[in-house]
Amino acid sequence: MKKALIIILLIVIVIVGLFSTYLLYKLGFFFSAEGRYDDTNLNYMNVLFENKSDINAFNEGYSESASCPWGFEHNGLDYFFNNGSNVIAAAPGQIWEIENHEGEGNNKYHVRIWIRFNKSTVLGYNFEPWTTKEADKNKQISMFKVKVGDWVQEGDVIAEFLQCNESAHIHFDIIENENRYCPKKYFSPDGYNLIMELIHVYHPTWKLCYS
Ligand SMILES: [Zn+2]
Repeated sequence: MKKALIIILLIVIVIVGLFSTYLLYKLGFFFSAEGRYDDTNLNYMNVLFENKSDINAFNEGYSESASCPWGFEHNGLDYFFNNGSNVIAAAPGQIWEIENHEGEGNNKYHVRIWIRFNKSTVLGYNFEPWTTKEADKNKQISMFKVKVGDWVQEGDVIAEFLQCNESAHIHFDIIENENRYCPKKYFSPDGYNLIMELIHVYHPTWKLCYS
């Protein structure tokens, strides 16, 4: 009886240990760029597009409340790509996860590529082709140029964009220690100038971020 209890206890310890290790792994605890790039601080991010002409609108920047031109809280940047445009990595990192999301309505299928920059910071490229057809989602996935585990440098093409509707865009998201901040601090000076040039094509008075 005692022996059985000890065995059960050992099995529980092993399961809890494996699960904890997996959780820590998923949280980036063991992540290392291994000298591929400077992963100490993300302050040299660029934009997701190769040319401003690959983008057809700017409707939402970063906001922490509804007190902004678009009128709702939005903790990311939306890139409205034209159909077939290249989407490039804004920063180096490792393809961490490719996540499918199925919602409701006309914008049913989302696919997000998560790229980890360092232990604390991960960048999400959420493809929203704006479709209700699973075939469109699969087509968008077939246009991805990366797979989980790949390493990318800033500027590498990670996908071509599938635009099923004029509302199609990439919701670009940066998470640092489970928080979201105005992306300005992550941009290089050139990258920041590029995103502001893009915004001002459509809205000459808009800022990147609103509190
Ligand atoms: Zn968005």
